[in-house]
Amino acid sequence: MIDFVGAGPGAEDLITVRGMRLLQEADCIIYAGSLVNPGLLSYANADCVIYNSATMHLEEVLEVMEHMEKQGKHTVRLHTGDPSLYGAIREQLDALKRKGIPYRICPGVSSFCGAAAALEAEYTLPGVSQSVIITRMEGRTPVPESEKLYCLAQHGATMVLFLSSGMAEPVQAALLQGAYTEETPCAIVYKATWPDEKVIRGTVGELCKLARDYNITKTALIVVGSVLGDDYELSKLYDKHFTTEFRQGTE
Ligand code: SAH
Repeated sequence: MIDFVGAGPGAEDLITVRGMRLLQEADCIIYAGSLVNPGLLSYANADCVIYNSATMHLEEVLEVMEHMEKQGKHTVRLHTGDPSLYGAIREQLDALKRKGIPYRICPGVSSFCGAAAALEAEYTLPGVSQSVIITRMEGRTPVPESEKLYCLAQHGATMVLFLSSGMAEPVQAALLQGAYTEETPCAIVYKATWPDEKVIRGTVGELCKLARDYNITKTALIVVGSVLGDDYELSKLYDKHFTTEFRQGTE
């Protein structure tokens, strides 16, 4: 059995209880060493074999999984955040399916949630934005034409950019081509939930300068949108005049 486990955004205690138990039971752990907190490996038992996938290619990862499976061993593939986002799990799942090796997936706390906590932000504020766009600036991995940043920026919704902090200049230009203005609040969150977390707040007009001044090139998210500002409407959910399935509104 191969368990794909979301390691969470960084802090060792932000893995799920299920993820932690799977690490404790594992005979083998293959972890994404570039971003997974190595402290999580302390959950492993003393006999567990540990591989860092940062120095491995896909075939090598699959070989280890297949080897362990043949010996009846249990492997955990530990991915940063939640494995569904920029995790390159689909290619592994499909290869395992072809080989007839069973697998399961255990979700994790994504870094965009860690960043919201660091920012004390609610991404979906009434009267401001009710959507979160999770995307990235095109890099070596291409982005479909209809999802180019300047297109998605037309919505002016809350936006979280992964894998893009080293490209602040084109990010800023694309955001300004859309509905965001120089004054729209934005933030760079570096290593959310890690001990050396940094939260840098500013505006879209300052984004490039902020990334340069604080020398942020990786392990950071760019969060954009008026939800980082001060204006919003109160929620209906907790409005005393509003009737819900669970509560009768008062006059
Ligand atoms: N699956 C992961 C994302 C992997 S892609 C998740 O759900 O979070 C790697 C990118 O995620 C990094 O380039 C960075 O943009 C972002 N990232 C991962 N961990 C982060 C953290 N603790 N703080 C800020 N950004 C992080």
